[in-house]
Amino acid sequence: MGEIICLGIESTAHTIAIGILDSKKGIIADQRSMYTTDKGGIIPIECAKHHKDLKEELLKKALEESKLKIEEIDFFAYSEGPGLPPSLIVGKDFAKELALKYNKPLVGVNHLVGHLEEGKYFTKAKDPVFIFVSGANTQIIAHEGKKYRVFGEALSVGLGNALDKFGRAVGLGFPAGPKIEQLAKKGNFIEIPYVVKGMDVEFSGIVTHCINLYKKGAKIEDLCYSLQETGFSMLLEVTERALAHTGKKEALLIGGVAANQRFVEMLNLMCKERKVKSFACPLKYSGDNGIQIAIAAMLQYKSDYKVYKTKKQKELADINTNWRIDQVETPWMDMFKK
Ligand code: ATP
Repeated sequence: MGEIICLGIESTAHTIAIGILDSKKGIIADQRSMYTTDKGGIIPIECAKHHKDLKEELLKKALEESKLKIEEIDFFAYSEGPGLPPSLIVGKDFAKELALKYNKPLVGVNHLVGHLEEGKYFTKAKDPVFIFVSGANTQIIAHEGKKYRVFGEALSVGLGNALDKFGRAVGLGFPAGPKIEQLAKKGNFIEIPYVVKGMDVEFSGIVTHCINLYKKGAKIEDLCYSLQETGFSMLLEVTERALAHTGKKEALLIGGVAANQRFVEMLNLMCKERKVKSFACPLKYSGDNGIQIAIAAMLQYKSDYKVYKTKKQKELADINTNWRIDQVETPWMDMFKK
């Protein structure tokens, strides 16, 4: 295949983003806009309105940045799921409209696969065990038996949200992760619950325990340090077992919590002992963005997976709000192994 240009649209939750990827030149445009609130969480309908209001402007800016005319895009891609339905619909309708208008193929991408493939793209890891730790998501994932599989995950709250929950209770504001990291540098270890159940981890009880200790007068620095050491160790225990089970020789940290230098240090140490290579996705690309959709879409396009070509197929393209990662086919993995 010669040079191919893909325009990817991300809109699963708080962010509407457009990324343009050139198979030869790499990233040629990356435009994003995040919906935020002064208080509380996402209001889905308002979030969708934000996406609707900004999509045209983002497209214009992305085309300007790439110095391309829209006719030069070879195909369009969108995040099909999982995500919030009102947000997903905006991206899907926009991508569909463009694909129909300019008579180009349309590709439906799984948002999580976008994160994983983007991590590989930037770090050059080939077939790692992924430690995916964002706000809501905490999963240990690896490719096995032609699909990405979840080997272990947080049973209730994800690690990022757990840190934020603790931070909120002790007055650190949002997001608390970076502040906890700084405070932890001055802390000492206190014994707190360590909860690994099989291959899964559970953070909610630990957070409640730490909040109670804080109320009884425990030092904030000690709690931050202990929360980090315990939470990261739990995840690394599961990662280590996933590495042993799969025999993989790479571990890749992705998601917002990958910003934590202590986590990266602990991962590096564990990997060194196991003679496994460790990687962390660049922070700029750990949050939701259009490039992640374009990267996964490029692989799908080349391996003809979920590429809607006819007018009828494009019209029928839909969202899949609960699209689990292990339901995604990954034909490109076989293609590139050869
Ligand atoms: P999701 O994609 O799961 O819905 P999200 O988009 O909010 O969640 P990210 O932007 O990937 O997730 O990550 C945000 C999380 O990362 C927050 O919970 C934040 O506290 C945490 N975080 C950011 N920096 C650090 C840090 N230095 N140490 C620990 N946690 C951090």
